[in-house]
Order: sequence, then C-alpha cells, then structure tokens
Amino acid sequence: MNILIKQIMLGEKPKDILIENGVFSKISDNTDIVCDKTIDGHGKAVFPAFYNGHTHAAMTLLRGYGEDLKLFDWLNKVWKQEAKLTEEDIYNGTRLAILEMIKSGTVFFADMYWHHSAVIRAVKEMKIRANVGITFMDSLSKKALRENIDFVKNFKSESNPLIQLGICPHAIYTCGSSMYTDCFELAEQYGLKLHTHLAETKSEFDSSLRNNGCSPVAYLDSLGVLSENTIAAHCVHLTDNDAEILAEKGVTIIHNPCSNMKLASGIFNYGLTKKKGCTIALGTDGVSSNNNLSMIEEMKFASLLAKVSTLDSLSLPVEEAIKWGTVNVAKAFGLNAGEIKEGMLADCIILDLSNERLIPNHNLKSNMVFSADSSCIDTVICNGEILMENGHVDNEEEITEIASRYEIP
Ligand SMILES: [Zn+2]
Repeated sequence: MNILIKQIMLGEKPKDILIENGVFSKISDNTDIVCDKTIDGHGKAVFPAFYNGHTHAAMTLLRGYGEDLKLFDWLNKVWKQEAKLTEEDIYNGTRLAILEMIKSGTVFFADMYWHHSAVIRAVKEMKIRANVGITFMDSLSKKALRENIDFVKNFKSESNPLIQLGICPHAIYTCGSSMYTDCFELAEQYGLKLHTHLAETKSEFDSSLRNNGCSPVAYLDSLGVLSENTIAAHCVHLTDNDAEILAEKGVTIIHNPCSNMKLASGIFNYGLTKKKGCTIALGTDGVSSNNNLSMIEEMKFASLLAKVSTLDSLSLPVEEAIKWGTVNVAKAFGLNAGEIKEGMLADCIILDLSNERLIPNHNLKSNMVFSADSSCIDTVICNGEILMENGHVDNEEEITEIASRYEIP
C-alpha cells in the first residue's frame, strides 16, 4: 500500500509526504502521484509516533490493582495475581494494551512478560512494532528455561519484520550471576537486545552493596553484561561511577518517571546522567504501576521531574523530551525510525489542529509535551500501514468488551 498525505504541517510548513514500501519515500512541497490512499492534511500536522522503551503490556488487566504500596510489597501482591493469568488472559491484556498504545500514538513497545506466543499473536494481529521480551528468572523450572531458549533459537525474525525478540533477565534480585551471563551470551549469539530492570530502588542498591560489595550497575559491569545492546530500565539509584559506566558502555537507560514516582522508588538523577553523557529514552513501565501507557504523559512527567530535580527550568527542553519518547527508543532497539525524514521507516501520527488542547498553536512541540492527550491524535501510521483513522482502531469494541470481562480471581 502507498499513501500520499497532502499539504500537512511538518514543522513550520505544509508538505506532501509520500509513503511507499513502509518508508517515507518523498517529502516535498508538492507531489502529484495517484496512490492507494490519499489523506487530506489541511488543518492537521504530522508528528513522529512514540516508542515505549519498557513495559509489561498484559498488566493492563491489573490496572488499579495493588495501589499505594512500596515496590517489593507491590511486587509480591502483583506476582500472586500474575501467576494466575492464563495464556488467553495475556493475549487479551496485550490486545488492550496495544489498543491503548495506538490510540495514544505509540507504534512500538518493548515488552517483558510471560507467554510470549500470546504476546506475539496480539502484536501480529494489531500490526504494531514490538520487542517481545523473553523473561528469565532463577525461579523458572528447568523445563521453562529450556522452552525459553528453544523459542529464541527457533524464532524466525524474517517472518515478521515488525517483531524482534529481547532477552530479559528480570533483575539482580531475581537472577544470579550465571543467569545474567547466560542471557548475555544468548543475546549476543542471536543478535538480540538484553533488557533488564536495574537500580530501581534503594533497597536493591543497598542489598547489592551487602551481597556483591558494589552497586547494581557496577555488579552487572563486573559480570561483563553491559554493552550498547543493553537496555536498562529505571536506573534511579546511581553513583557517579555508575553513570560513567553506563555512558561508557553505551547502555540505554529507559527512564520510567511515572512508575518511579508512583512506587516511590526515587528521583531519577537527570543532572548526573546528563553530565556523564548517558543515553536516555522513555518507557511507561506496566500499567499497574503507572496506570496507563501514554507516552505523552511520560514525556511531560520526565520534563517536570528533570526541572524540579535540578531546580533548573531549562532542564530537559521539549525537543529533548520528544527525542526520549521517539528516536532515542527507536535507536536503542535498532530501528531507523522516530523522525519524519526521507528513507526512514514510515511511522507517524497525524494531529488534529482543531483540538482544543493544541490551540493556540504557538509551539506544537511544547503543546505535545505539556498539553496534548490522545484526543489530539486523528490517525496513526506504522510501517506505512494505517492503524488508526479518525480516532478509530479496527476491532476496538471487541477488544475492550473482552478485556472488561476480566476479574481478579
Ligand atoms: Zn518494569
């Protein structure tokens, strides 16, 4: 399918944008080509789509469950319920998550969960991009561990270019050193990203000092598992040396401001990570610690938190916050995406400039970080395919109806 978007605002000027074979093939003042689909861009603006660098999609089913708890109390409560989720539950919960993500302009998510076949089924059906994380913990049975490894070995990435696998040792408090090094080798062998929770809470930091004699980051570095293929979610509790290690090894930090604040995990040290040159991108974390999957909200919270934590209103300007929610996540997962430029993957959102939250339009980037919500998004395009048009996603009524039947057992 090829698409021509006519006279849509791109930055300061109206442009014609031609999408062919899943990429932005031509961006010009005027293009007259007959396409399968032509979109009238008058009164609209095109904007990069969002990329969610860390989540647990099927946790949408636990939205609002386990409120006002500290991370480990919350984890214990949530894990008990997660153990009861069936493969079908996870399929339905993931579909609900993808629906919510598409409606809020997100076209990619990095997932870390169970029943990856059910996640992949939902991702394929809804035509979104995903890094489907295969989760590893020491508590897995030998059989489950074997199945995980076999799944990675037998996965044919060329069968669906929108889906990549990720190797996810869960965290240093659920995985020992050999689990981390085995996961690292597996990721290296198959050219996959290693995605883990890291330095999320003070108690994780303190117990690493006690058990390993060093911080969580220094510990993983000592195991040799930090590289430019490592995606580290949270990184709230960092020493100066930790931030230097993360920058030097090229690790991408996925900052989850809403989750970190909601679970009172701590305040992400923007000043330190910026000073040391760390690569930072954004994720929502799972719904039960957020409680939604809006990357627009995540950009806003990241920006506000950066300003208040440094007591500097110049911290994290909107251009940078947008990069954290778009191109930085895309780059971390090896996607040539996140910006609207010729030759890049054709992922974008079309904004309705008549939406009250975008009026007046003195500064669209600022409006998108600080004012917008999902209602501003009219159309979502992923890989040159329309996932949402006029605010509607295929099968959305069925997806919400099935998910609304889920009850906590
Ligand atoms: Zn998480």
